[in-house]
Amino acid sequence: MPLAHPFDDDKLKEECGIFGVVGVADAANFVALGLHALQHRGQEAGGIVVHDAEHGFNSARRMGYVRDNFTSAELLQTLPGNIGIGHVRYSTAGNKGQTAIRDVQPFFGEFSMGGAAIAHNGNLTNAAALRRDLIDRGAIFQSSSDSECIIHLMARSMGRNIPDRMEEALRKAEGAFSVVAMTRTKLMGVRDPLGVRPLVLGKIGDGWALSSETCALDIIGAEFVREIEPGEMVVISAKDGVQSHFPFRRQEPRFCIFEQVYFSRPDSILSGRSVYETRRQIGVELAREAPVEADLVCPVPDSGTPAAIGFSHESGIPYGMGIIRNQYMGRTFIEPTDAIRNMGVRLKLNVNRALIAGKRIILVDDSVVRGTTTRKIKDMLLDAGAAEVHFRIASPPTAWPCFYGVDTPQREKLIAATMTEDEMREHLGVDSLRFISLDGLYRAAGHAEGRNTACPQFCDACFSGEYPIKPTDMIAKGFELKS
Ligand code: SF4
Repeated sequence: MPLAHPFDDDKLKEECGIFGVVGVADAANFVALGLHALQHRGQEAGGIVVHDAEHGFNSARRMGYVRDNFTSAELLQTLPGNIGIGHVRYSTAGNKGQTAIRDVQPFFGEFSMGGAAIAHNGNLTNAAALRRDLIDRGAIFQSSSDSECIIHLMARSMGRNIPDRMEEALRKAEGAFSVVAMTRTKLMGVRDPLGVRPLVLGKIGDGWALSSETCALDIIGAEFVREIEPGEMVVISAKDGVQSHFPFRRQEPRFCIFEQVYFSRPDSILSGRSVYETRRQIGVELAREAPVEADLVCPVPDSGTPAAIGFSHESGIPYGMGIIRNQYMGRTFIEPTDAIRNMGVRLKLNVNRALIAGKRIILVDDSVVRGTTTRKIKDMLLDAGAAEVHFRIASPPTAWPCFYGVDTPQREKLIAATMTEDEMREHLGVDSLRFISLDGLYRAAGHAEGRNTACPQFCDACFSGEYPIKPTDMIAKGFELKS
């Protein structure tokens, strides 16, 4: 299985990327390019569905990277049409770690008024209850994915057309969802009432695009129009353009703050701000909150880089590439022998010995999840002759699991759930360890006043334990909310 990040077992894993276009010739090519730009959001599998008046609906779903599957002219010729949607996946629901092709989206349903396909980013927090109920009423599920519930709910809806049915289905769903869907002629996009996961609208020629992130609009040459608003549903056709309405009860938005820290690409725009700039600003805040005397600020590549630049700028301590990432870590070594596997992080990162030796190093990383990688990196720096190692983390301690479309270890596996900051520092064996505060993170994300404790501006449940949407299924399984 391809790896997304040098420390795949020690990072929160985003979930999925979704993309769709309407009103462009050879839509599948655009969808493939869009998915390629969203590959960081899911590397296990991808799928594309298109529609063409002559050939009807066609689809292709494959395991692995977009570039390995959806660049073949032969395959793309089997996907004709000027409307299409796609999905890249890392399994956050269903059978984790054993992705089956039947779990790969988009999902397709044939209704009396025609077919529809959907691609979902997020996680339904009441999926188990919905699924039980649907199965009791005769639904036959094809996959283990929570997203398939949406298709079955649509099948049972009395709505007159597919957009009405999708709207009715999503009113029954709880949790985080950004959805891109299509009929024969219409592209649809929906965001849950809190807008936990992102979704943006773009314009390309006479056509339109929907995407998880703006970076995928850039790759196809589409102009970024706006974000789909929390709770908004858009129905788009080449003929009528974009029609928007708000089918859910209005609520204060709670966008995922971890998108700002790590998930989204730094060249994307979120909530009107450059992700790169927010991350750089996190480094600035971190330098103000947790200064330390040192000789060099280094990022843990690549996600720690903008924050390290901000830290260096604010502190006046020089910035350097003290750790170099092996960019060409390919599949060859992904299923290696035990001897190679034991090399672990060294396969993926190397210390720039000439820069590090004898220096007091500030290492900036985006997060600490289990802490296993942090320890290994510290060992590598000391082996290379670093005089001191100070970790500065661009997010608060991750002490709670996410139930909104991000794969997190069980709570007891999160180092911050079982140790104080001092205990973590001792356990990791570093000279100092500091995390940005929640208020600092909010300031960096554009809220100068910090976090509004009465009504937080973002979802930050993995840091605060305050879940904006009740994790119904998990509570039924025994998960205990913060008292
Ligand atoms: S719990 Fe954390 S990762 Fe999950 S949606 Fe909320 S902020 Fe994002």
